[in-house]
Formats: sequence, C-alpha cells, structure tokens
Amino acid sequence: MSTLYHGGTIHPWADGRTAQALLVRGGRVVATGALNDIQAAGARRVDLHGAHVYPGFTDAHVHVWKVGQLRTTLLDLREATSLDDLARRVRERHAALPDGEWLWGRGWNEARLGGSPTRALLDALAPGRPVLLTRTCAHIHAVNTPALERAGIGPDTPSPAGGEIDYEDGILTETAYGLVYGAMPEPSHAQFEAWILAGLEYLQSLGFTAATDPAVDPPLYAAYRALDAAGKLPIRVNLLYIRRPDGGAATYPLPEKHLSPMLRCDSVKFFTDGGLSGATAAVSTPYKETGTTGMLRFETQELLELAREAHVAGFRIGAHAIGDVALTQLLSVYAGLERDYPGGPRHRIEHFSLPTAEHLRLARLLNVIAVPQPVFLHELRVNYDRYIPDALAGQVFPLRAMFDAGLDVAFSSDGPVVRELRPLCGLQAAVAEPYVPGQAVTLSQALGAYTRGGAVAHGDEHERGTLESGKHADLTIVQGDLFHTEAHSWPEIPVRGGVLADVTAESEAV
Ligand SMILES: [Zn+2]
Repeated sequence: MSTLYHGGTIHPWADGRTAQALLVRGGRVVATGALNDIQAAGARRVDLHGAHVYPGFTDAHVHVWKVGQLRTTLLDLREATSLDDLARRVRERHAALPDGEWLWGRGWNEARLGGSPTRALLDALAPGRPVLLTRTCAHIHAVNTPALERAGIGPDTPSPAGGEIDYEDGILTETAYGLVYGAMPEPSHAQFEAWILAGLEYLQSLGFTAATDPAVDPPLYAAYRALDAAGKLPIRVNLLYIRRPDGGAATYPLPEKHLSPMLRCDSVKFFTDGGLSGATAAVSTPYKETGTTGMLRFETQELLELAREAHVAGFRIGAHAIGDVALTQLLSVYAGLERDYPGGPRHRIEHFSLPTAEHLRLARLLNVIAVPQPVFLHELRVNYDRYIPDALAGQVFPLRAMFDAGLDVAFSSDGPVVRELRPLCGLQAAVAEPYVPGQAVTLSQALGAYTRGGAVAHGDEHERGTLESGKHADLTIVQGDLFHTEAHSWPEIPVRGGVLADVTAESEAV
C-alpha cells in the first residue's frame, strides 16, 4: 500500500525547487514530481489543500525532557515580568504543594525581572520549604536556606571545581548546582518517560519530526530506550550522553551505543564553558556590567583525554562551547584528535556563539558541525546588549559566516532556555534578525539547516533530511508559502505538525 500526497507544493529540498506530488511506500519516499508522471495506481490519496510539504524539521539541540517537565510539573517562570510577579508565582505554588516537597521552578532572567531572586526573598516566600529556581540558561540557580541545608552547604562550604557557591545570596553557578540536584529525590523511571513524551509530543505539534536531547544521564537514557522498545517515541530522537555530571569530578563510563530507526545514541556531551545570557561563558575580554571573563569547565589536557576515549571508541562528540576562549580550547582538542586519529567520527559544536574567522576556518578544516540557536537572537538580545563587550559584539552568532566558511550548520532552539520553540520563529530570526549587520542568512540556507543540516548533526543524513527517493518520508506540513511571504509574517503561518509517514498508518488507511 502506498500514499500519494497531492494538491499542494512539495519541497524535496530546501532550495526552492518544488514538485506537485509525493509518493510514499513503507514509510519511504518512492518519488516526487509532476502528478501525471507518478505511477500511483491503487495508492491512498491525501489532498494537501494547498499546504507546503518540507523534509521533516529537526531541532538539533532541545532539552526534550525539560521541555516536557516545564509543560507538566515544573513552575514555569519564563513569562515572569518582574521580581514581584515571580514572587506571586512562587507563593502560589508554595501554597499548592504538600509540606516538605521541593519547589522547583525554571526560566527567570534578571534582565527581564530587574534583578535576581535572593536567598532571603525565597526564604520569605516559601518558609520551611526547599526552593530551587533555575535561571533560564540552566547555568545559574537561586536557592533558599532549606535547599542549601538539604544539600549540606553552609556559609563556609568551598565551591566545587568548575562552579561557584554564593551562600549569602543563595546563588549556585555551573557545577555547584549538582550539590543541590543530588539532594533532591531522584525522579522515577515513569516520571522521566512522562516528561519525555510530553516534550516530544509538543515538538511534533510544532512541526518537528526529529530532535536531539543534548544532555542525557543514565536514568534518562534508560527511559528513552524503554520508550523506543515499546514503540512509543512519536518522533526520531538523537541523544548526547553526558560524561561528567555537575557537582563532582566523577565521570560516567561510555554508554552502550543504540542505533534504531527512532532512537540514536552514539554521541557524548561535554560542557566546556557557561552561558552568554548570564555572562558565564569563557571570553577573552571582560563582560560589561560584571567585569568577569566567565569560566572554563575543564583543563585542556583533561578534556582531551576524555574526548580521546570517546573518539577512539567511535563516539561522536557534541561539546557546548560559547565564548571565544572555550572555542579555542575545544577546537584545539578536536584538532588533536584529528592529528592522532585522522578520519574519525564527525564532531559537533553546540552554540558556537562567539567565533572568530579563524575558529570558523579551523572548524571547516576539521569537518565540525555547527549547532547554533537563531532564536537566541530574538529572545536573548537584551542580555547580549547588557553583557557582551564591544570587542566581541561583532562576532555574536555570525550565521552567514558559518555558511560562507563551508560548515554544515544545524539549527536548534535550546528550549527551554528560550520560550519560543516554533521553527518558523527560528527561521525568522536567522533570516531577519542578525545581531551583527550582514550576518543574516537566506531562507534556503535556514531551511537547509533545519532539514538536511539536522540530519547531518544526527548522523543519519543518508536516511533523511531531503525527500529524495529511498529516504524516510518525514514531513513538516506548513499551511503557507514561506518563499513568497515576508519573514516578519512567518510566525503567523500555521504549521500542521510533523508527520512520520509509517507503514502502520498506511495499512490502516487501506
Ligand atoms: Zn542546551
């Protein structure tokens, strides 16, 4: 049984070439072309009613389970507009929770609120209850006294390596968060599964057919594998398995690889620095406002050894690197791997936020995949204005330069770091809202980064990323013509969602 999609516009690639019809069989593309040329006798016919069909979009870096958590159990603070507003939301949640249970919220941003929540404030809002409020970037966390007590942190507790404890204000930065996270009750397997599914179903409703979850620990990996075994994953997922969890120097052993049609895990994750929106990424010129230069999480030699172990075992690496200092360190590690073990797996750089021309040149030479977040240009611009020094302002997410350097680029949202996960908003930001004038990309480049680029980042570009014959028929269906609409109107165009044309659905339709 096969299915013929007609009555709309098919985009087999991202470059504006179109076809009238698409024939699918067994979940794979058989042909695209003119309706009259496609042999579709006996096929089920699906009328697109004028919609545009693109190769399925990938969000190549989105914390799926945390998106699900924010849509279900966590207190969502991303819409909080002031510290008073945040206080109201925390007080309400405090009143609704059973005694003694942790109050966990996420999404505050001092640039929006006019200041950060403090230990004293949280003590007053939720007396006797441990409170953890994670900043929007997830690199900085506000906690109250009961939370610090449960984590065994006192006024004299030294900061762990790669992190900072500010006991007075109740602010934990980078790895110090692990001390509090470790004191919280471990979520159950069923809870992890529910968060994953809530996240994936939401992403599918936005039009995605694939996503990378970029920081996965052993319990989360187990939940993903159980969902895959049960056939419950609604879209394709790629995992970056975390080696070094926050809060200590312990290292997880390399995981067992997993490569099924719906779930891939052959990559490991490292964080080499902090974030830009909270001024913790490692930079060469001090931030405005704070006067600090962020922090590197690893000594270069240690990072090289951990990376070598993964590389030699055939694992790809997805490493978070934002500041120019972190990019220099990470690229030197990748260069060392290529020198000692040439032709190994292709590695990724997550965010890639402040590259110089030399970083881009070296990345191309090393065949590195860039995974930036165009939507940051929209949502985090106020933070960039506040913190990024003039000397670095000319190299904030130079998306055009990444393409010009010849890199494979995969777009992503890093949700829930941002509120906006819709892909057409990411397209709009990439095409119309560059931080640096002249760094906007074309619609074709941006679509390519969401489709073929996403597949390259997952390592399955031979299977998907275009609608060429033989590839998975993963489809993103958009109710409007992006190529003939102004970028500022794209967010209003309805997206019907992501579709994985599969064998079951087709046989049911007979
Ligand atoms: Zn992230």
